[in-house]
Amino acid sequence: MALVVQKYGGTSVGTVEKIRNVARRVAKTFDAGNDVVVIVSAMAGETNRLVALANDMCEFPSEREYDVLVAAGEQVTIALLSMSLLSMGYNAKSYLGSQIPIYTDNAHSRARIKNIDDKKIREDLKNGTILIVAGFQGVDDQGNVTTFGRGGSDTSAVAIAAALEADVCEIYTDVDGVYTTDPRMVPQASKIEKISYEEMLEMASLGAKVLQIRSVEFAKKYNVVIHVRSSFDDRTGTLVMKEDQEMETVLVSGIAYNKDEDKISIFGVPDQPGIAAQIFTPLGEAGITVDMIIQNVSRDGKTDMTFTVPKSDCKKALRFIEEVALKIGADGVSHDNSIAKISIIGVGMRSHAGIAQTMFETLSTEGINIEMISTSEIKVSCIIAAKYTELAVRVLHEAFGLDSRK
Ligand code: ASP
Ligand code: MG
Repeated sequence: MALVVQKYGGTSVGTVEKIRNVARRVAKTFDAGNDVVVIVSAMAGETNRLVALANDMCEFPSEREYDVLVAAGEQVTIALLSMSLLSMGYNAKSYLGSQIPIYTDNAHSRARIKNIDDKKIREDLKNGTILIVAGFQGVDDQGNVTTFGRGGSDTSAVAIAAALEADVCEIYTDVDGVYTTDPRMVPQASKIEKISYEEMLEMASLGAKVLQIRSVEFAKKYNVVIHVRSSFDDRTGTLVMKEDQEMETVLVSGIAYNKDEDKISIFGVPDQPGIAAQIFTPLGEAGITVDMIIQNVSRDGKTDMTFTVPKSDCKKALRFIEEVALKIGADGVSHDNSIAKISIIGVGMRSHAGIAQTMFETLSTEGINIEMISTSEIKVSCIIAAKYTELAVRVLHEAFGLDSRK
C-alpha cells in the first residue's frame, strides 16, 4: 500500500465526462489498496475566462480580489470530482487550499508556499477518504486567498507530495510524457523515460511547457519523484527525478527552441569600466529579463554588445537602450525580431567533450549561421534566424541520435 498523489490538469477535467473518467482512474488507484490525494486544476479554458472577466471589469483589478476570482475555477472541479466519486460509492471530500490549509506568503497571483498543515489530510486518509484538493491556491497568514501563478496546480501537487512524503506524485496531462523535442515539429521525437530535475528545468524554461518551472524546483529541493503521464491511457510516462549514472551516458537528452525573444545590438560602445552596468541597470530596474549577452573584443577603445530580451519587452527595452546609447556616446542601436534560440540539453555534457562542436558542425552543414552562442554546464544555446528553427531542430535531433526508430 502506497500514498499516491495525483494531479489532473485542465484538459483532463475539461468536461463532465472527462471528470468521470478521472474519477474512475482515482477509484482504480484506491481499489488497488493505496491512499489517494488528488489535486485538480480548473476546467480547460476556465482560468482564462476568469482572468478576462477581471480585465473587463477594470484596468488594474485589485490583486486580492483577482486571486479570489481566479481561485474559483478550481473550486468547481474539486466539487464535481468529489460528487462523481461519492456517486460511485467512494468516500471522497473536497478541500479548498485555505481549508487544508496550504499557507503561503502574501504575494498575490504569484504566492509561494510556506507550509502545509497535513493534519486534516492524514485524518481523512486514515478513515479511508479520498481527498480532492484544489490546485493553484493557498491562504496567507491573514486569511486572504492567494494563487501561485499560471500552471500553479503542478506546484500544489508537488508540495503536497513533499509534505506527505508520498510514494509517487503523478502529474496527469494531455501528453504522455516529456519528449526529446516538440513532437509537433519533429515526428521522430521520442518519449524520455527519465530526466533529471536540472534537465527538466532547462527544458521547461526554454519553452517545453509540460510542468510549471516552480514545481520542478520544489521537487528538486524535496527530492519528489514526478511521474508525468497521460490521463487518457495507461502507459507509463516520464519520471522527473534526481540525476543517476545512467542519465550521464546520454550525451544530449533533448533539443529545445524558443522563438519568444528578440535581439538588440548596441554598436561602438566605449570600452570602459561601468558601461555594462549603465546599459543593463535600467533594464533590470524595469523588470526586463535579459537572457544571452555577448560583448565583442574591443577595437580602438570601442566594442559592440548584443543581447536578447523577451519579445513582449523589446519595445520597452529599445527605448531604454537608445537613451543610454546617446548618453554614453555609442555609435548606434539595432534590433532583430526574427531570431530563434536553439538549445541542446543533457547532463552527459559534464563528462563528454565535443558536444558543442557537433552542434556547430551540424548547423553549418545546413548553411545555418550562428549569431550568438551561450553555454552552461548542461546546455549549449545558439541564436539563429527564426526561419531555420524547424530545420535546425530536426537536424540536431538526428545528429545526437535522438530520432526514434519507429
Ligand atoms: N488553473 C490554473 C491555470 O490555468 C492553474 C493550473 O491549471 O495549473 O493556470
Ligand atoms: Mg497545467
